Amino acid sequence: MIQRIVMKRGPKPEDLTGKKFGRLTVICEANQKWGHRHWRCACQCGRECIVAGTELKRSRTRSCGCVRREIIHGECADPRKSREYRIWSVMKSRCSNPKATGYDYYGGRGITVCPEWCNSFVQFLSDMGRAPTKFHSIDRIDPTGGYEPSNCRWATPVEQAGNKGSSTSLRIRITRGLRASPRGNCSP
Ligand SMILES: [Zn+2]
Repeated sequence: MIQRIVMKRGPKPEDLTGKKFGRLTVICEANQKWGHRHWRCACQCGRECIVAGTELKRSRTRSCGCVRREIIHGECADPRKSREYRIWSVMKSRCSNPKATGYDYYGGRGITVCPEWCNSFVQFLSDMGRAPTKFHSIDRIDPTGGYEPSNCRWATPVEQAGNKGSSTSLRIRITRGLRASPRGNCSP
C-alpha cells in the first residue's frame, strides 16, 4: 500500500498544486530555496520553471518569462512599440492617471479598464486580437461602459463616428502618436 505523505499540523501549509497564476499552472512543490517554498510550474508556452510561492501569490510571476520576453521584444521595445501596445497604454493612463491628457473624459467620468486588461497587455491582446489596420482603434460599443472584452471592438474613425461618444479623443491621440492622419485614407 502506498503511504501518503501527510503535511504537518498547525497552520496548514498551502498547497498550490493545480492552481493557475497567469500562464503558469503549478505541477508540484519543488525544493525549498533560501528557506522559501518553491513550486514547479508548467507554462502555457511549454516550458517549466520553478517559482517561489510568494511570487506566484503576489502575481509577480505569471509566466516562465515568456510574457515579458514577448512584451519587451515584440511589443514595447522602442522604437517598435506595436500599435496595440500604444493603444493599451493610452487607454490605461486615460482611465487611471488624473494627470493624463483626456483623463477628464475617461477616468474622470467613471470609465474604467477591466482588471484583466489593466494588469496584462497579453490578456488585452488575446481578447482583442490585432487591430485589423492602422486606422482601426479601440472603440467602446456602449460609450458609457468601460473598457472590457464585451464592450470593445476595433473600429475605423468612420465606424466610430456612428457611435458618438467619448471614444473620439482616444482615437485622435493614438493617431497623432502614429504621425499619420486617418483622414482621407480611412474610407474605401
Ligand atoms: Zn512561458
